[in-house]
Amino acid sequence: MNNLVYDCVVVGTGISAEPVLHHLSKTNLKVLVIDGSEIKNDYCERKESNKEITRLTPKQIFKSLNIYNNTIPIKSTRYSQISCSKFTYIYTSVSGGLSNFWGGGLHEWPDDELTKTTTLPLDKVKESYKDLKNRLICKSRDHFFNSSPFAMPYINDKKVSTRFITKVTEFFFNPHGLSTHPNRRLPFDQHLIWNSKSTILNYINTSKNLIYKSNITVESIRNTSNENTLYCTTPQGDVQIHSKNIFLCCGTINSTLLAFSALQKPHANLELRHTNAAICPVLSLKKSQLYSNNNIDLPDISWSYYPSKNQEPSAAGYLIASNFLLKRFKSRFYRILSPKITVLFTQFFSSLTFLTIYKKDTNSNTHLKITRKSSHNESHSDFLLEISSKPKIQKIMASMLLDMLSLGKWIKNRSILLIPLARLVRIGADVHYTSTMPDSSLKYSEISTNSYGEIQNLVNIYACDPSRLAYLSCLPHSFTSMAIINASMPHIIDKIQKNL
Ligand SMILES: Cc1cc2nc3c(=O)[nH]c(=O)nc-3n(C[C@H](O)[C@H](O)[C@H](O)COP(=O)(O)OP(=O)(O)OC[C@H]3O[C@@H](n4cnc5c(N)ncnc54)[C@H](O)[C@@H]3O)c2cc1C
Repeated sequence: MNNLVYDCVVVGTGISAEPVLHHLSKTNLKVLVIDGSEIKNDYCERKESNKEITRLTPKQIFKSLNIYNNTIPIKSTRYSQISCSKFTYIYTSVSGGLSNFWGGGLHEWPDDELTKTTTLPLDKVKESYKDLKNRLICKSRDHFFNSSPFAMPYINDKKVSTRFITKVTEFFFNPHGLSTHPNRRLPFDQHLIWNSKSTILNYINTSKNLIYKSNITVESIRNTSNENTLYCTTPQGDVQIHSKNIFLCCGTINSTLLAFSALQKPHANLELRHTNAAICPVLSLKKSQLYSNNNIDLPDISWSYYPSKNQEPSAAGYLIASNFLLKRFKSRFYRILSPKITVLFTQFFSSLTFLTIYKKDTNSNTHLKITRKSSHNESHSDFLLEISSKPKIQKIMASMLLDMLSLGKWIKNRSILLIPLARLVRIGADVHYTSTMPDSSLKYSEISTNSYGEIQNLVNIYACDPSRLAYLSCLPHSFTSMAIINASMPHIIDKIQKNL
């Protein structure tokens, strides 16, 4: 591996790698795919051994990176998450990345939001939405199963204000999850919501030009016009990989840090925009059959709220039936729950519905400051990462409350009381971030890309994950990020082939 020069190296095997590998697998380019961990579908193993599920297994890619919470240094370990008092960044070393536990919300952004985030032609991005939906079997829940009794009353309610757009949530489906189960479905888990692992393994196994190496963590990159060198650590020791082109698919902060190392900048100040989210339990005084129906185990209605006609959405989210959370709750606490307590909980949960609310990024104010302290040798430098965040909490709360009051009208037949902002930011909410390496014609940043994701001042290094989105909608972003990468790939491959 040390002596070979690859045409392309793809760093990361999360969802962002899917469009990259899909296109590269159709070429004759010599491609190396690497990830800090290994692709394995551990769901069955966990089920059999009945182990506690720990999905958040964060990692710190730069071992020598010191993390400061404004002024207090945070000790970074492989199992810590980067956080400061108002911001938590979750990252994972598990192959497949955050798609191991993501919400599965699949949203196509409206045109006006797309034009704020990319300068690629809109029709190309929209074609990409279609391509992705077809090849990843993204269908509405209805397509596979009967309509949910929970969802349909909401969908059919003619009185629902036109400001709310509701639809049965679309999910990525993993075909294996569907076909192997006797009832053609599994409970809510990463098999039902699309998990990139099996798709990516499939590309690797069926394409002759993709070579996959697990347990290789890229620590830094050296960029020259002829070649890129990736300095990596492996359990067996340090290795150097040489490649003409690099696709960074390793999540916003990891990709940004690697770009930073390649740019050899002494420091960078970056903005990190993120959506604010809350989970709000909705209490219903009228206990309904709908809520206690046992078939409901998915968050199956997504909604977006338009304050006035033709405007972009002010908030978006999911409506989650209580059974979904009840099942998770029971499975988590089954050891300590007596039958009596279980009945009590079931009754309590049966009068609850949960709303997840996502707000646009306008009130977030998180900054990353990366400083290069010293460079001991070629491969390992000392970096300092400071994160500071001052979200405008009062403004966020006020605008969420306004949305929820309107939402109250919408669910008036069933629910009486809203308890707002049970938790202002749920775990994972902060991961809806963007803007560290945006499209330079749309937004200024110290590190930016061109329309196709090539990082400015770096030759042949492409940002291929949400770090290159210039704008953050309140609608989930991953699908749009994938569509933008998918739309860029033909151009990038064309360029690579011309330069061979
Ligand atoms: C709780 C939660 C719910 C979410 N819900 C939604 C939702 O409903 N809809 C939506 O659109 N988005 C959602 N998201 C966001 C979504 O999960 C992420 O945007 C998406 O998974 C990012 O994918 P990625 O491939 O860019 O990065 P990641 O998923 O982070 O994958 C990065 C990969 O790179 C590898 N890697 C990292 N650094 C290195 C390195 N230095 N060297 C080698 N390998 C490396 C990792 O092992 C990993 O495999 C949610 C996130 C969370 C946490």
